Amino acid sequence: MEDLYDPEEKIMCPYNSSHHIRRCKMSFHLVKCKKNYGEQKMIPCDFNASHMIPKPELRYHHQICSDRKKIEAPIVKSQMKSKSKFPVPSIPVATEESWDNLNVATYDPKNYAESSAVLRHIDVESAGKRREFRLSERQRHNELSGAPSTAPLEPETCSVKLPPHRSVANVEEAQFESIKLEKQARKTYIQLKD
Ligand SMILES: [Zn+2]
Ligand SMILES: [Zn+2]
Repeated sequence: MEDLYDPEEKIMCPYNSSHHIRRCKMSFHLVKCKKNYGEQKMIPCDFNASHMIPKPELRYHHQICSDRKKIEAPIVKSQMKSKSKFPVPSIPVATEESWDNLNVATYDPKNYAESSAVLRHIDVESAGKRREFRLSERQRHNELSGAPSTAPLEPETCSVKLPPHRSVANVEEAQFESIKLEKQARKTYIQLKD
């Protein structure tokens, strides 16, 4: 995976907002700078709990952590592989096309989402946790929909059937439309023939 950050970009020192340091020099700067700010609470890194990082530096550390790539690379790879399987990953979407067999008078989306094969998502956890949750949701979703987790899921099975984009207002318009289409098709045919 490529490094996403420009090493020459100036970023703000987490200890003093008036220090703008080139990204590639920040590690050196932090060693010196933190001495001026006394003892800091140490927090474990999201990617490796054995990395204990001074709290102000945690965000910066997450950007440069060497274990981040080890954790993220396989996830990105698997997300790329399953891209076609999950065309609408962030929106809860019902997989069943018919809701007629539900024993409820009116459709309650919350109720439905909790008990059905929809992709849920969370926003409150850390990025790492959210990623883990998304992956497990996909797994759960596959199991609920009865598809083997390795088999590609057809895009149709993930989408709700929507009414056609455009409805034709009346019969005349429908006839006019079909005549227009037929003319177009004939024209294309003639062009191809010539
Ligand atoms: Zn500083
Ligand atoms: Zn780390």
